[in-house]
Amino acid sequence: MSRTDILMTAPMMPIVIDTLEKACTLHRLWEQPDQEAFLKEVGPRIRGVATSTLYGRLEASLFDNLPNVEIVSSFGVGYDNVDAAEAARRGIVVTNTPGVLDDEVADLTLGLLLATLRKIPQADRYLREGKWLKASFPLSTTLRERKVGIVGLGRIGKAIARRLAGFDVGIAYHGRTKQDDVAYAYHPTVIGLAEACDVLIVITPGGAATRHLIDADVLKALGPNGVLINVARGTVVDEQALIEALRSGTILSAGLDVYEDEPRVPQELIDMEHVVLLPHIASASVHTRNAMGKLVADNLIAWFEGKGPLTPVPETPYKGR
Ligand code: NDP
Repeated sequence: MSRTDILMTAPMMPIVIDTLEKACTLHRLWEQPDQEAFLKEVGPRIRGVATSTLYGRLEASLFDNLPNVEIVSSFGVGYDNVDAAEAARRGIVVTNTPGVLDDEVADLTLGLLLATLRKIPQADRYLREGKWLKASFPLSTTLRERKVGIVGLGRIGKAIARRLAGFDVGIAYHGRTKQDDVAYAYHPTVIGLAEACDVLIVITPGGAATRHLIDADVLKALGPNGVLINVARGTVVDEQALIEALRSGTILSAGLDVYEDEPRVPQELIDMEHVVLLPHIASASVHTRNAMGKLVADNLIAWFEGKGPLTPVPETPYKGR
């Protein structure tokens, strides 16, 4: 690969920086004191962008400063941080990092589900606070005899379902389309799934199409024994409706990895003892984040070696050059 100019919008893992620095000229946007002047000077030379779902949105207006950009390689399988439709309109390929994080996210989801039902973090706090010396920890709720509904039975949803099968629970799912090669019960509406289940695991993409898919009506349908696990995106759940449902007993509890305004988490949730809150860590192991970082760099390298992108998003399919 010739010394192609690549723009990195925010600090990324050493594996991404080191790999790209070996193969191209890397420009660090976040280090520029005057980004506007920098983009004016360097922007026309930039042919590729490395960005991350962890650092907020890449505004489509950035493309105005990058008239020769061909590809945006984004860290994360969710790419609601990039305006893929606008990229498609401009003929820019967008890539994400699917597949390499499925098992990690599914493992964490099962951990969060069990932590929420069996109150594992609360029990840990109880012991540390010396309360066990005075009385046993109160009995918890259970996964036993539950039916779990998966909202979004994609790559990660299926990895979650495979794990759930080992826990001997009922499994059903909702998505926009019924999958003929899947044996789990299909519900064409999310409210129908919520009525049929007492656990909902949300693992759809974020973005406008899924905004507040889980609203007050869905939570009401889930019912007073219901548990919501959200490992998708904060925007998929109406957070205020969730807070109200948790406060009023409309549902039993929730385990959350994602929030509407990260990293800010509503104080009402922080103050609740019957929820488990994680700081968006579902894929965050060294092993898996390195695999994701490698795929970010490999997508750019493959593209500039003329091999096409490895993992283009559906909005910008590769049609050859
Ligand atoms: P996939 O594209 O493989 O699966 C997405 C699933 O969601 C599909 O089954 C799809 O089914 C369903 N879906 C999409 N849109 C809707 C909709 N409007 N209503 C209902 N269902 C919908 O993606 P992955 O499994 O690889 O990843 C899923 C998401 O998980 C990511 O986009 C990201 O948001 C989140 N994620 C979160 C992480 C975290 O750190 N917490 C880590 C990794 C991923 P259908 O097309 O039939 O509707």
